[in-house]
Amino acid sequence: MTLAGIAWTVRDFCIISQSRFRSFEETSSALQSFDSDNKIPFFPNTSPKIPRKTLNSIPCFPPNSFPHSLFFQIPPKKHKSKRSLLSAMNLLNLLFLFSILSPVAFANTKLDPHLLPRPLILEYPENLNIEGGGGGGGGGEDDIVFRCTAWRFAVEANNVSPWKKIPFECLDYVKNYMMNKGYALDLEMVANEAGFFARNVELGGDGKDVWVFDIDETLLSNLPYYAQHGFGLEIFNSNLFDKWVDMARAPAIESSLKLYKEVLDLGFKVFLLTGRSEGQRAVTVDNLKNAGFENWDRLILRGQDDQGKTATIYKSERRSEMLKEGYRILGNSGDQWSDILGFSMSNRSFKLPNPMYHIP
Ligand SMILES: [Mg+2]
Repeated sequence: MTLAGIAWTVRDFCIISQSRFRSFEETSSALQSFDSDNKIPFFPNTSPKIPRKTLNSIPCFPPNSFPHSLFFQIPPKKHKSKRSLLSAMNLLNLLFLFSILSPVAFANTKLDPHLLPRPLILEYPENLNIEGGGGGGGGGEDDIVFRCTAWRFAVEANNVSPWKKIPFECLDYVKNYMMNKGYALDLEMVANEAGFFARNVELGGDGKDVWVFDIDETLLSNLPYYAQHGFGLEIFNSNLFDKWVDMARAPAIESSLKLYKEVLDLGFKVFLLTGRSEGQRAVTVDNLKNAGFENWDRLILRGQDDQGKTATIYKSERRSEMLKEGYRILGNSGDQWSDILGFSMSNRSFKLPNPMYHIP
């Protein structure tokens, strides 16, 4: 028996068993008689040769279980003949059977994909070479951009740690990122999210809610210095960098300045916690004021006892002292993970981008 024959036999069985007959014998008999009497124009392949067990296992959906509006409406005419009703039910069952059997019937048929709707199918351009996408092969300018983007992402996510300088092949990439929109947009994104948090967090109203800010690459930008020193390609030279700091010419990071003013206006205490040493306090104050930062509540620099400590330990200890004084550290902004990780952490921390250097 062909697939069409099976389908039509099951269809007939369902139609007749639901319309007039109940038992297998009655249905089989009806099929035979209708066919032989030619009362119903059955499909030529119709034949009740399918075993009773199989036929009884076929789910014959009642016609009313189908959402008629999706198919058609049977006109509610009182004089409608049984033959018309059977034809309508024929069609419903046919649609159901076709939906089940069509994958089998077309399994070995090569279809034209353009005949099918494709709105959810994403297609690569024909000339796109994705062989090197997994990390090997490839080459050329695009490949370097992808690799350096992967490196920067890993750095910002603190997956690459520690590291001393940027990869040589990423010099142009880091330069472009820092000097163009990428860096500025990322800074703005962090500041906007921090501002949203600051506006919505509940303050105690007792002057004990603190926002901690790092200084370098958080409030002040040393980009003019790093632009002269390979954007992080050169190994950090503390003597050269201190000379730059002493000039007190680092500009403000504008998005951070806006956030800084906002958290002050909201009633936060602002504590500046920096890795700069006490010997740089005066130039740091000058630089902050020159750049537009004023009215902080505390400026904490590395003292003699803090020398040799990692930034993570030094800053955690200082935050711990704030908590012991009864302050609640609600927000913390820093460009290094060592600004925000450790212990006595803030309720919410905001990591600013910095692909130029790493401080443990
Ligand atoms: Mg910093």
